[in-house]
Amino acid sequence: MTFSIFTLFPGLFEGFVRSSILARAIERGLVSVRLIDIRDFATDRHHVCDDAAYGGGPGMVMKPEPLAAALEASGAKAGKRVVYLTPAGRRFSQRMAGELAKEEEILLLCGRYEGIDQRVIDAFVSDEVSIGDYVLSGGEVAAMVVVDAVARLVPGVIAEDSLEEESFSRGLLEYPHYTRPEDFRGMRVPEVLLSGHHEKIRKWRLLKSLEKTMKHRPELLNQDGLPAEARELLREKRNPRLGRGATNPRLERGEREEGDGNERDQGT
Ligand code: SAM
Repeated sequence: MTFSIFTLFPGLFEGFVRSSILARAIERGLVSVRLIDIRDFATDRHHVCDDAAYGGGPGMVMKPEPLAAALEASGAKAGKRVVYLTPAGRRFSQRMAGELAKEEEILLLCGRYEGIDQRVIDAFVSDEVSIGDYVLSGGEVAAMVVVDAVARLVPGVIAEDSLEEESFSRGLLEYPHYTRPEDFRGMRVPEVLLSGHHEKIRKWRLLKSLEKTMKHRPELLNQDGLPAEARELLREKRNPRLGRGATNPRLERGEREEGDGNERDQGT
């Protein structure tokens, strides 16, 4: 898959493409990143790419001609996915990353100043994407976010089983992780994770995912796609009188079952 990134600051991507998972994916030929310097397409002597806004107001706007020329040189009109990174776009999500990972090429347009001339959006852009409800000084960091999230979903970049359990993959945030040592400053790894009992570990992780999602992102629990087992667990947690809660006084009191690993796990 190819990411073609249109920017006034290609140098910002240098370290990014040379690091970690992305660098390995590029090396293995699974992903390629093309950096297009918009300034190279400005035809005036000073390669000017911005101008004052019609209608007045502070700030400059990126001029349409260099952007259009850069996009056309990359075949932007040929039905390719052209993403403009903008706080005024649709919110980026894991689902959108999965959708974009199916494309052979994505063109990413990084704005600067007040943004780009609307006519470039009208003529070339297929998706306006925001990485969150805040304003950055430029689209480059947002483009890196999209490239990173999409590239790891390209088949072969990361082991499939690593992706399956990640946050958002099943409509839940991911459970907590632990590694050695078993005892770190008096905080012990939950017993269940040391038990070697795969089914108990799976259930504990599901419970922890659910608790984390309830705490940090309760709105995710109302979305479609929650596994049936998680829905059942959620029903029990919301109404302990249902299901196991009806026969287990500890669950009734909002406590956890013996041996579920939570006894030593307060505050995680
Ligand atoms: N005037 C714009 C507005 O209020 O919507 C903000 C322009 S911002 C200073 C400059 C550029 O940064 C934008 O054109 C866009 O490419 C990028 N940018 C800023 N925040 C972003 C966000 N949350 N998501 C994606 N891109 C963003």
